Amino acid sequence: MKGVQPGDKVAEIKSRLDIVELISEYVSLKKAGRNFLGLCPFHNEKTPSFTVNREKQMFYCFGCGEKGDIFAFLMRLNNATFPEALKLLADRAGVALPASPFLRGGKHSPNAREQIIQINHIAAAYFTANLLSPGGKAALSYLKERGLKESTIKEFGLGYASDGWRHLKSHLEQQKVSLKMAAEAGLIVVKEDRPDVQYDRFRHRLMFPVKDVEGRIIAFGGRILGDGEPKYLNSPESAAYSKGRQLYGLNSSKDAIREKGYGIFVEGYFDLIALWDAGIRNVVATLGTALTRDHVVLIKRYAERAAVLFDSDEAGKKALARSVELFVAAHMDARAVILPEGLDPDDFVRRFGGEALERRVEEAPSIVDYYIDTVIGGGATFEERGEAAVRAAAFITGIEDVIDRNLFIKRVSEKLGIDQDILKKEVYGRLSPKRSREAPPSRRPEKRAAGPEVNLIHLMMECPTVVPSVVEANAMNYFLDRELKSIGEAWGRYVSGEANPAPESALSFLQGQEPSERSEALVKLLIQESPFSKESLGPLSSDMIRQVKRRWYKERHKSLTERLSAAQSSGDSDLGRKLLMEKERLMREEKDL
Ligand SMILES: [Zn+2]
Repeated sequence: MKGVQPGDKVAEIKSRLDIVELISEYVSLKKAGRNFLGLCPFHNEKTPSFTVNREKQMFYCFGCGEKGDIFAFLMRLNNATFPEALKLLADRAGVALPASPFLRGGKHSPNAREQIIQINHIAAAYFTANLLSPGGKAALSYLKERGLKESTIKEFGLGYASDGWRHLKSHLEQQKVSLKMAAEAGLIVVKEDRPDVQYDRFRHRLMFPVKDVEGRIIAFGGRILGDGEPKYLNSPESAAYSKGRQLYGLNSSKDAIREKGYGIFVEGYFDLIALWDAGIRNVVATLGTALTRDHVVLIKRYAERAAVLFDSDEAGKKALARSVELFVAAHMDARAVILPEGLDPDDFVRRFGGEALERRVEEAPSIVDYYIDTVIGGGATFEERGEAAVRAAAFITGIEDVIDRNLFIKRVSEKLGIDQDILKKEVYGRLSPKRSREAPPSRRPEKRAAGPEVNLIHLMMECPTVVPSVVEANAMNYFLDRELKSIGEAWGRYVSGEANPAPESALSFLQGQEPSERSEALVKLLIQESPFSKESLGPLSSDMIRQVKRRWYKERHKSLTERLSAAQSSGDSDLGRKLLMEKERLMREEKDL
């Protein structure tokens, strides 16, 4: 297969994009020396160990070991395939991808998720056209009645699914869309007992496309116009859509969330759109589900703080209790915003305006304080306080982090006016013995230190110009560590095939190697600033090669001495003589180093 290879495009995209800029959109990064540091989006941490190196265009997390280039980052972050990441980054870099062979047809045919997204985009365009057609008049005037600006309607791509059973279906058929995939996308319903009966899922509804962070439409929400049940109908979960992992509006609001330093959680499409319309842009909505850990992790990529708008009813209180745990576990500073009884966020901003809501958010108590005050409660009598302590203990038991747990114990016991130790006993009594006891420190079998060998490979990777001289000196044959030897040899071959290895090629080379303790150690070295100065490379590499060889000779002497004394004690004088000669030869060789 001739023509453009994916590799060419990958290199072109990489040369046009900057990893620090890209990752900054998802992780807040601070400069630290020559690297950038942030909280890892792939594991939960309090102190930043996620490192991005601009020079090498790579990231590495010292906490969880995730590493790679811009492609690896997006794939891991969005759980995306390589073609998806390639397409996204190509768009971003302004690099045109050939239509085939590796994107469509050929090796890669779009997977179910990609197909669903494609169909959703076709459907969304259709719904939008409907809204603006005479048939969509009722839907459009409903939006106008709610006072929504045209720009908001456009921003969220609102549309209308007309009142009929097969409008969308025929449109999709005209567009040569596979109805089977449309059914998987949840747009078409196939009757279980009669597969030939197929009809539109969304009828006479206002349509809200649900986009992922990258702006791909992964699902829809539909609100009934007029009477009818259910009021809101959502796409079922699919290969493209999992409601517990998606936040509605995040694609539009992520910049504002980053700017403001916090995100506001609301519960539905209209609440979000109403707030947006009132000028509050740092807002996201859950989609017919309670807040999940994934939601919290997702928002934490953009900001350290959050505010949650709760209803003041019982359901709201329950939701609050669940959320406290999630925010505490994620080490996020969250506030609980309670709106006056009977008002949802949409009503509230329409009546009092956006600024009034922002003030409420600013004045809101931390979710932890609010939880302790209202849900755990004080209790007037001794019995009531005891009951509150039991409720609190049940909750505290669920907190993973020991420090957070003890902090909670302290605050709750102060609040209830009970002894900390009593509460502690209650909590730790509930914790399983496995968790309350510290795990014994595990001792790894010690690996022979391979300092000189690691140093030499580190140098070869930072400064590939030294590789030929290292190869010439036959240094790799003196490696005692087999893993390092094979990494070094492979790197030598890699470099000899590259005309001019870029600074990041060592890291991508290691990416392609079998993961091992040694390659991991090298990645850690490479992500940091290079300790080698370009001026003294010659003497430095000869010195390192000498150190590697000396070490090898030392080992050989040691083993010869051992064998020699064994030969002597068993009376094998022939062998003894041979070994002695070998020892002398080695000593002569070593002198010449
Ligand atoms: Zn990590």
